[in-house]
Amino acid sequence: MFTPPQHDSDFRPPFCPNPNCLYHRQLKSGWRFKKSGFYTRHVKPHRIQRFTCHHCRRSFSSQTFSSTFWNKRPDIVALLFTMFRG
Ligand SMILES: [Zn+2]
Repeated sequence: MFTPPQHDSDFRPPFCPNPNCLYHRQLKSGWRFKKSGFYTRHVKPHRIQRFTCHHCRRSFSSQTFSSTFWNKRPDIVALLFTMFRG
């Protein structure tokens, strides 16, 4: 029996990771995405939620928003911190 990790199942992508997508740089409501299953891998977390952007149809995963990704966008990190804190 499999229990999904809480932090991953609760993950919501804050914006589209596709640089060419209208919703890549816009941190506002109206962006729509859908969950499109999972993929598994050998390192933790083992089950990764996948998403598809409704706008550009790009698929991505919760791991797209890894620390490596955030390091490229310190401006977004600061903005999200103020948005989602508390
Ligand atoms: Zn997109």
